Amino acid sequence: MRWILLLGALIGQIYCRETFVGHQVLEIIPRNEEQIQNLEQLEAQDHLEIDFWRSPTVPEQTVHVRIPFSSLQDVKIFLESQGIAYSVMIKDLQVLLDEENEEMLMNQRQERSSGFNFGAYHSLDEIFQEMDQLAAAYPTLVSKLQIGSSFENRPMNVLKFSTGGNKPAIWLDAGIHSREWVTQATALWTANKIASDYGKDPSITSLLDTMDIFLLPVTNPDGYVFSQTKNRMWRKTRSKIPGSLCFGVDPNRNWDAGFGGPGASNNPCSDSYHGPSANSEVEVQSIVEFIKSHGNIKAFITLHSYSQLLMYPYGYKCTKLDDFDELNILANSAAQALTSLYGTNYKVGPICSIIYQASGGSIDWSYDYGIKYSFAFELRDTGLHGFLLPANQIIPTAEETWLGLKTIMEHVRDHPY
Ligand SMILES: [Zn+2]
Repeated sequence: MRWILLLGALIGQIYCRETFVGHQVLEIIPRNEEQIQNLEQLEAQDHLEIDFWRSPTVPEQTVHVRIPFSSLQDVKIFLESQGIAYSVMIKDLQVLLDEENEEMLMNQRQERSSGFNFGAYHSLDEIFQEMDQLAAAYPTLVSKLQIGSSFENRPMNVLKFSTGGNKPAIWLDAGIHSREWVTQATALWTANKIASDYGKDPSITSLLDTMDIFLLPVTNPDGYVFSQTKNRMWRKTRSKIPGSLCFGVDPNRNWDAGFGGPGASNNPCSDSYHGPSANSEVEVQSIVEFIKSHGNIKAFITLHSYSQLLMYPYGYKCTKLDDFDELNILANSAAQALTSLYGTNYKVGPICSIIYQASGGSIDWSYDYGIKYSFAFELRDTGLHGFLLPANQIIPTAEETWLGLKTIMEHVRDHPY
Protein backbone atom coordinates (compact mmCIF):
# COMPACT_ATOMS: atom_id res chain seq x y z
CA MET A 1 0.00 0.00 0.00
CA ARG A 2 2.73 2.36 1.06
CA TRP A 3 4.73 1.95 -2.11
CA ILE A 4 1.62 2.48 -4.24
CA LEU A 5 1.09 5.82 -2.51
CA LEU A 6 4.73 6.72 -2.98
CA LEU A 7 4.59 5.76 -6.64
CA GLY A 8 1.40 7.79 -7.06
CA ALA A 9 3.03 10.84 -5.50
CA LEU A 10 6.06 10.44 -7.76
CA ILE A 11 3.95 10.12 -10.91
CA GLY A 12 1.89 13.09 -9.78
CA GLN A 13 5.05 15.13 -9.41
CA ILE A 14 6.23 14.21 -12.85
CA TYR A 15 3.03 14.68 -14.81
CA CYS A 16 0.68 16.97 -12.95
CA ARG A 17 0.56 20.66 -12.53
CA GLU A 18 1.09 21.63 -8.92
CA THR A 19 -2.02 23.12 -7.34
CA PHE A 20 -2.07 26.03 -4.95
CA VAL A 21 -5.58 25.54 -3.61
CA GLY A 22 -5.91 27.27 -0.27
CA HIS A 23 -2.41 28.73 -0.35
CA GLN A 24 -2.46 32.17 1.19
CA VAL A 25 -0.07 35.05 0.83
CA LEU A 26 0.29 36.96 4.07
CA GLU A 27 1.52 40.49 4.50
CA ILE A 28 3.57 40.94 7.63
CA ILE A 29 5.27 44.03 8.97
CA PRO A 30 7.87 43.04 11.55
CA ARG A 31 8.15 45.73 14.23
CA ASN A 32 11.62 44.95 15.61
CA GLU A 33 14.75 42.83 15.20
CA GLU A 34 13.32 40.07 17.36
CA GLN A 35 10.31 39.67 15.08
CA ILE A 36 12.64 39.54 12.07
CA GLN A 37 14.53 36.74 13.74
CA ASN A 38 11.23 34.94 14.40
CA LEU A 39 10.41 35.16 10.70
CA GLU A 40 13.85 33.85 9.77
CA GLN A 41 13.27 30.90 12.12
CA LEU A 42 10.05 30.23 10.27
CA GLU A 43 11.83 30.36 6.93
CA ALA A 44 14.37 27.78 8.13
CA GLN A 45 11.69 25.18 8.84
CA ASP A 46 11.74 23.27 5.56
CA HIS A 47 8.73 21.07 6.37
CA LEU A 48 6.40 24.12 6.38
CA GLU A 49 7.27 24.72 2.69
CA ILE A 50 6.73 28.42 2.96
CA ASP A 51 7.87 30.73 0.19
CA PHE A 52 8.98 34.27 0.96
CA TRP A 53 7.97 36.52 -1.92
CA ARG A 54 9.56 39.43 -0.07
CA SER A 55 12.00 38.39 2.64
CA PRO A 56 12.32 40.01 6.05
CA THR A 57 15.03 42.71 6.03
CA VAL A 58 14.68 45.54 8.52
CA PRO A 59 11.91 46.47 10.97
CA GLU A 60 8.83 48.17 9.45
CA GLN A 61 9.66 46.78 5.98
CA THR A 62 6.80 44.76 4.49
CA VAL A 63 7.24 40.99 4.16
CA HIS A 64 5.15 38.77 1.86
CA VAL A 65 5.00 35.06 2.34
CA ARG A 66 3.13 32.28 0.56
CA ILE A 67 1.97 29.52 2.88
CA PRO A 68 0.58 26.15 1.76
CA PHE A 69 -2.86 25.27 3.11
CA SER A 70 -1.37 22.46 5.20
CA SER A 71 0.94 24.85 7.11
CA LEU A 72 -1.49 27.74 7.47
CA GLN A 73 -2.70 26.97 10.99
CA ASP A 74 0.80 26.31 12.34
CA VAL A 75 2.18 29.50 10.86
CA LYS A 76 -0.71 31.67 12.05
CA ILE A 77 -0.48 30.23 15.56
CA PHE A 78 3.26 30.88 15.56
CA LEU A 79 2.84 34.49 14.40
CA GLU A 80 0.14 35.15 17.00
CA SER A 81 2.20 33.58 19.78
CA GLN A 82 5.07 35.93 18.92
CA GLY A 83 2.79 38.94 18.72
CA ILE A 84 3.53 39.45 15.02
CA ALA A 85 0.66 41.16 13.22
CA TYR A 86 -0.29 39.94 9.76
CA SER A 87 -3.01 40.36 7.18
CA VAL A 88 -4.13 38.13 4.33
CA MET A 89 -3.00 39.62 1.02
CA ILE A 90 -4.11 36.76 -1.26
CA LYS A 91 -6.82 34.52 0.16
CA ASP A 92 -6.56 31.61 -2.26
CA LEU A 93 -3.69 31.66 -4.73
CA GLN A 94 -5.28 29.05 -6.98
CA VAL A 95 -8.17 31.41 -7.77
CA LEU A 96 -5.69 33.90 -9.26
CA LEU A 97 -3.84 31.14 -11.11
CA ASP A 98 -7.06 29.86 -12.65
CA GLU A 99 -7.92 33.37 -13.80
CA GLU A 100 -4.48 33.82 -15.31
CA ASN A 101 -4.68 30.48 -17.11
CA GLU A 102 -8.17 31.17 -18.42
CA GLU A 103 -7.02 34.53 -19.77
CA MET A 104 -4.04 32.98 -21.55
CA LEU A 105 -6.28 30.43 -23.28
CA MET A 106 -8.76 33.10 -24.28
CA ASN A 107 -5.96 35.23 -25.68
CA GLN A 108 -4.58 32.30 -27.68
CA ARG A 109 -7.95 31.96 -29.41
CA GLN A 110 -8.11 35.68 -30.12
CA GLU A 111 -4.59 35.85 -31.48
CA ARG A 112 -5.50 33.43 -34.26
CA SER A 113 -7.50 36.21 -35.87
CA SER A 114 -5.98 39.38 -34.48
CA GLY A 115 -2.23 38.60 -34.37
CA PHE A 116 0.28 38.81 -31.53
CA ASN A 117 -0.96 40.67 -28.46
CA PHE A 118 1.83 42.29 -26.45
CA GLY A 119 -0.58 42.73 -23.55
CA ALA A 120 -0.81 38.98 -22.86
CA TYR A 121 1.35 36.27 -21.33
CA HIS A 122 2.78 33.75 -23.80
CA SER A 123 4.39 30.36 -23.98
CA LEU A 124 8.10 30.08 -24.78
CA ASP A 125 7.32 28.91 -28.32
CA GLU A 126 5.05 31.88 -28.90
CA ILE A 127 7.75 34.25 -27.63
CA PHE A 128 10.35 32.67 -29.92
CA GLN A 129 7.98 32.91 -32.89
CA GLU A 130 7.40 36.58 -32.22
CA MET A 131 11.15 37.18 -32.01
CA ASP A 132 11.55 35.57 -35.45
CA GLN A 133 8.69 37.70 -36.65
CA LEU A 134 10.43 40.89 -35.50
CA ALA A 135 13.68 39.88 -37.17
CA ALA A 136 11.76 39.20 -40.40
CA ALA A 137 9.82 42.46 -40.25
CA TYR A 138 12.90 44.65 -39.59
CA PRO A 139 15.71 42.80 -41.40
CA THR A 140 18.05 45.77 -41.56
CA LEU A 141 17.81 46.46 -37.83
CA VAL A 142 16.93 43.28 -35.96
CA SER A 143 18.63 39.90 -36.01
CA LYS A 144 18.40 36.86 -33.80
CA LEU A 145 21.38 35.06 -32.37
CA GLN A 146 21.66 32.09 -30.09
CA ILE A 147 24.22 32.60 -27.33
CA GLY A 148 23.87 29.15 -25.78
CA SER A 149 21.47 26.46 -24.67
CA SER A 150 19.76 25.87 -21.36
CA PHE A 151 20.28 22.80 -19.18
CA GLU A 152 17.35 21.09 -20.92
CA ASN A 153 18.72 22.22 -24.27
CA ARG A 154 16.40 25.07 -25.09
CA PRO A 155 17.95 27.93 -27.09
CA MET A 156 18.97 31.16 -25.40
CA ASN A 157 17.80 33.51 -28.10
CA VAL A 158 18.97 37.10 -28.15
CA LEU A 159 17.73 39.91 -30.36
CA LYS A 160 20.42 42.21 -31.68
CA PHE A 161 19.41 45.72 -32.68
CA SER A 162 22.08 47.23 -34.84
CA THR A 163 22.40 49.67 -37.71
CA GLY A 164 25.56 47.92 -38.82
CA GLY A 165 29.04 47.06 -37.65
CA ASN A 166 29.95 46.22 -34.09
CA LYS A 167 29.28 49.24 -31.94
CA PRO A 168 29.63 49.59 -28.19
CA ALA A 169 26.55 47.89 -26.79
CA ILE A 170 23.88 47.76 -24.15
CA TRP A 171 22.85 44.42 -22.65
CA LEU A 172 19.28 43.91 -21.44
CA ASP A 173 17.87 40.67 -20.05
CA ALA A 174 14.64 39.49 -18.45
CA GLY A 175 13.20 36.42 -16.79
CA ILE A 176 16.29 35.11 -15.02
CA HIS A 177 13.76 34.22 -12.32
CA SER A 178 11.17 32.31 -14.27
CA ARG A 179 8.04 33.15 -12.27
CA GLU A 180 8.50 36.88 -12.84
CA TRP A 181 6.34 36.77 -15.96
CA VAL A 182 5.82 40.50 -16.40
CA THR A 183 9.55 40.79 -17.16
CA GLN A 184 9.62 38.46 -20.18
CA ALA A 185 6.47 40.17 -21.46
CA THR A 186 7.98 43.63 -20.92
CA ALA A 187 11.13 42.59 -22.77
CA LEU A 188 9.12 41.52 -25.79
CA TRP A 189 7.10 44.74 -25.84
CA THR A 190 10.39 46.63 -25.57
CA ALA A 191 11.85 44.73 -28.53
CA ASN A 192 8.90 45.74 -30.66
CA LYS A 193 9.14 49.33 -29.39
CA ILE A 194 12.83 49.64 -30.28
CA ALA A 195 12.28 48.14 -33.74
CA SER A 196 9.23 50.20 -34.62
CA ASP A 197 10.50 53.52 -33.20
CA TYR A 198 13.85 53.51 -34.96
CA GLY A 199 13.76 56.29 -37.54
CA LYS A 200 10.72 57.87 -35.84
CA ASP A 201 11.80 58.63 -32.29
CA PRO A 202 14.92 60.85 -32.43
CA SER A 203 16.17 59.48 -29.12
CA ILE A 204 16.14 55.78 -30.06
CA THR A 205 17.38 56.66 -33.55
CA SER A 206 20.47 58.46 -32.30
CA LEU A 207 21.02 55.72 -29.72
CA LEU A 208 21.08 53.01 -32.39
CA ASP A 209 23.24 55.13 -34.64
CA THR A 210 25.83 55.09 -31.84
CA MET A 211 25.28 51.79 -30.05
CA ASP A 212 23.91 48.27 -30.45
CA ILE A 213 21.37 46.71 -28.09
CA PHE A 214 21.30 43.03 -27.15
CA LEU A 215 18.05 41.82 -25.60
CA LEU A 216 17.53 38.40 -24.00
CA PRO A 217 13.81 38.13 -23.17
CA VAL A 218 13.87 34.66 -21.56
CA THR A 219 17.09 34.14 -19.63
CA ASN A 220 15.83 30.99 -17.89
CA PRO A 221 13.83 29.13 -20.56
CA ASP A 222 13.62 25.81 -18.67
CA GLY A 223 12.27 27.54 -15.58
CA TYR A 224 9.81 29.51 -17.71
CA VAL A 225 8.39 26.38 -19.34
CA PHE A 226 8.23 24.68 -15.94
CA SER A 227 6.41 27.68 -14.46
CA GLN A 228 3.80 27.37 -17.22
CA THR A 229 3.34 23.63 -17.23
CA LYS A 230 4.15 22.34 -13.72
CA ASN A 231 4.62 24.90 -11.01
CA ARG A 232 3.67 28.56 -11.50
CA MET A 233 5.84 29.56 -8.54
CA TRP A 234 9.09 28.15 -9.99
CA ARG A 235 11.99 30.61 -9.74
CA LYS A 236 15.19 28.64 -10.33
CA THR A 237 16.83 26.83 -13.23
CA ARG A 238 16.01 23.12 -13.76
CA SER A 239 19.48 21.65 -13.47
CA LYS A 240 20.07 18.38 -11.66
CA ILE A 241 21.97 18.84 -8.43
CA PRO A 242 24.41 15.99 -7.72
CA GLY A 243 23.58 14.31 -4.44
CA SER A 244 20.21 16.00 -3.97
CA LEU A 245 16.62 15.16 -4.81
CA CYS A 246 15.90 18.84 -5.38
CA PHE A 247 16.26 20.56 -8.72
CA GLY A 248 17.58 23.89 -9.81
CA VAL A 249 19.79 26.76 -8.81
CA ASP A 250 18.87 30.37 -8.21
CA PRO A 251 20.55 31.78 -11.31
CA ASN A 252 20.81 35.18 -9.69
CA ARG A 253 22.97 33.81 -6.87
CA ASN A 254 25.22 31.89 -9.28
CA TRP A 255 27.42 34.68 -10.70
CA ASP A 256 31.04 35.02 -9.77
CA ALA A 257 30.55 38.01 -7.47
CA GLY A 258 30.88 37.28 -3.78
CA PHE A 259 29.71 33.77 -4.68
CA GLY A 260 28.37 31.78 -1.73
CA GLY A 261 28.27 34.79 0.59
CA PRO A 262 25.38 36.22 2.62
CA GLY A 263 21.91 36.21 1.10
CA ALA A 264 22.36 32.93 -0.77
CA SER A 265 21.60 29.44 0.45
CA ASN A 266 23.77 26.34 0.31
CA ASN A 267 20.70 24.12 0.59
CA PRO A 268 19.83 22.71 -2.88
CA CYS A 269 16.16 22.66 -1.91
CA SER A 270 16.10 26.38 -1.15
CA ASP A 271 14.74 28.90 -3.64
CA SER A 272 17.92 30.94 -3.26
CA TYR A 273 20.38 28.03 -3.63
CA HIS A 274 23.60 29.42 -5.11
CA GLY A 275 24.59 26.22 -6.91
CA PRO A 276 27.65 23.97 -6.55
CA SER A 277 30.03 26.62 -7.92
CA ALA A 278 30.01 30.03 -9.58
CA ASN A 279 28.75 29.82 -13.20
CA SER A 280 27.63 26.23 -12.64
CA GLU A 281 24.43 27.12 -14.50
CA VAL A 282 24.89 26.96 -18.25
CA GLU A 283 22.47 29.86 -18.65
CA VAL A 284 24.69 32.13 -16.54
CA GLN A 285 27.83 30.78 -18.19
CA SER A 286 26.48 31.53 -21.67
CA ILE A 287 25.85 35.16 -20.82
CA VAL A 288 29.26 35.56 -19.15
CA GLU A 289 30.97 34.11 -22.22
CA PHE A 290 28.96 36.28 -24.57
CA ILE A 291 29.73 39.49 -22.63
CA LYS A 292 33.42 38.63 -22.43
CA SER A 293 33.73 37.72 -26.09
CA HIS A 294 31.86 40.83 -27.19
CA GLY A 295 34.32 42.94 -25.25
CA ASN A 296 32.50 46.26 -25.58
CA ILE A 297 29.37 46.13 -23.44
CA LYS A 298 28.85 49.49 -21.74
CA ALA A 299 25.63 48.86 -19.83
CA PHE A 300 24.11 45.76 -18.23
CA ILE A 301 20.45 46.00 -17.30
CA THR A 302 18.33 43.20 -15.89
CA LEU A 303 14.58 43.01 -15.31
CA HIS A 304 13.02 41.34 -12.28
CA SER A 305 9.69 41.62 -10.51
CA TYR A 306 8.16 42.54 -8.17
CA SER A 307 8.58 45.50 -5.75
CA GLN A 308 9.05 48.62 -7.92
CA LEU A 309 12.73 49.22 -7.30
CA LEU A 310 15.61 50.47 -9.39
CA MET A 311 18.89 49.19 -8.01
CA TYR A 312 22.59 49.36 -8.68
CA PRO A 313 25.54 47.50 -7.07
CA TYR A 314 26.45 46.21 -4.66
CA GLY A 315 24.41 43.34 -3.31
CA TYR A 316 27.16 41.06 -2.04
CA LYS A 317 28.70 43.78 0.07
CA CYS A 318 27.35 46.91 1.61
CA THR A 319 30.19 49.27 0.83
CA LYS A 320 29.64 52.31 -1.34
CA LEU A 321 30.89 51.91 -4.89
CA ASP A 322 33.23 54.36 -6.63
CA ASP A 323 30.58 55.45 -9.11
CA PHE A 324 27.91 55.89 -6.45
CA ASP A 325 27.13 59.54 -7.18
CA GLU A 326 26.78 59.12 -10.93
CA LEU A 327 24.74 55.91 -10.75
CA ASN A 328 22.56 57.24 -7.97
CA ILE A 329 21.71 60.45 -9.85
CA LEU A 330 21.09 58.50 -13.05
CA ALA A 331 18.89 55.90 -11.34
CA ASN A 332 16.87 58.65 -9.68
CA SER A 333 16.24 60.44 -12.94
CA ALA A 334 15.33 57.14 -14.63
CA ALA A 335 12.84 56.41 -11.85
CA GLN A 336 11.44 59.93 -12.15
CA ALA A 337 10.89 59.45 -15.88
CA LEU A 338 9.21 56.11 -15.21
CA THR A 339 6.91 57.60 -12.57
CA SER A 340 5.95 60.52 -14.82
CA LEU A 341 3.72 58.30 -16.99
CA TYR A 342 1.31 56.66 -14.54
CA GLY A 343 2.55 57.79 -11.13
CA THR A 344 4.05 54.37 -10.30
CA ASN A 345 6.41 54.92 -7.38
CA TYR A 346 9.88 53.44 -7.38
CA LYS A 347 12.52 53.22 -4.68
CA VAL A 348 16.12 53.73 -5.76
CA GLY A 349 19.41 52.61 -4.22
CA PRO A 350 22.11 49.96 -3.94
CA ILE A 351 20.80 46.38 -3.65
CA CYS A 352 22.26 45.94 -0.20
CA SER A 353 20.51 48.91 1.31
CA ILE A 354 17.14 48.72 -0.42
CA ILE A 355 16.50 45.01 -0.28
CA TYR A 356 19.11 42.97 1.53
CA GLN A 357 22.62 41.66 1.21
CA ALA A 358 22.51 39.12 -1.63
CA SER A 359 25.58 37.55 -3.17
CA GLY A 360 26.23 36.09 -6.61
CA GLY A 361 23.95 38.54 -8.47
CA SER A 362 24.36 39.45 -12.13
CA ILE A 363 24.79 43.22 -11.87
CA ASP A 364 27.49 42.87 -9.21
CA TRP A 365 29.38 40.61 -11.58
CA SER A 366 28.93 42.97 -14.54
CA TYR A 367 29.98 45.99 -12.48
CA ASP A 368 33.09 44.26 -11.14
CA TYR A 369 33.83 43.11 -14.68
CA GLY A 370 34.04 46.79 -15.65
CA ILE A 371 30.55 47.57 -16.94
CA LYS A 372 29.90 50.77 -15.04
CA TYR A 373 26.24 51.16 -15.94
CA SER A 374 24.83 48.08 -14.23
CA PHE A 375 21.21 48.25 -13.07
CA ALA A 376 18.44 45.95 -11.90
CA PHE A 377 14.76 46.83 -12.14
CA GLU A 378 12.09 45.21 -9.99
CA LEU A 379 8.90 45.94 -11.96
CA ARG A 380 5.27 46.15 -10.75
CA ASP A 381 3.61 45.74 -8.36
CA THR A 382 4.30 46.13 -4.65
CA GLY A 383 2.44 43.00 -3.62
CA LEU A 384 -1.26 43.23 -4.36
CA HIS A 385 -0.79 40.61 -7.08
CA GLY A 386 2.91 39.95 -6.62
CA PHE A 387 4.19 37.57 -9.28
CA LEU A 388 0.66 37.17 -10.67
CA LEU A 389 0.38 40.61 -12.18
CA PRO A 390 -2.79 40.71 -14.32
CA ALA A 391 -2.09 40.77 -18.05
CA ASN A 392 -3.87 44.10 -18.43
CA GLN A 393 -0.94 45.67 -16.57
CA ILE A 394 1.72 44.37 -18.98
CA ILE A 395 1.55 47.24 -21.45
CA PRO A 396 1.38 50.04 -18.85
CA THR A 397 4.29 48.40 -17.02
CA ALA A 398 6.32 48.11 -20.23
CA GLU A 399 5.49 51.69 -21.27
CA GLU A 400 6.63 53.23 -18.00
CA THR A 401 9.69 50.98 -17.76
CA TRP A 402 10.69 52.07 -21.25
CA LEU A 403 10.96 55.69 -20.07
CA GLY A 404 13.33 54.58 -17.32
CA LEU A 405 15.35 52.41 -19.70
CA LYS A 406 15.58 55.22 -22.23
CA THR A 407 16.90 57.63 -19.60
CA ILE A 408 19.68 55.18 -18.75
CA MET A 409 20.47 54.37 -22.38
CA GLU A 410 20.68 58.04 -23.36
CA HIS A 411 23.09 58.67 -20.50
CA VAL A 412 25.24 55.71 -21.56
CA ARG A 413 25.26 57.02 -25.14
CA ASP A 414 26.29 60.50 -23.97
CA HIS A 415 28.96 59.34 -21.52
CA PRO A 416 31.31 57.04 -23.42
CA TYR A 417 34.06 55.46 -21.34
ZN1 LIG B 1 13.97 38.12 -9.54
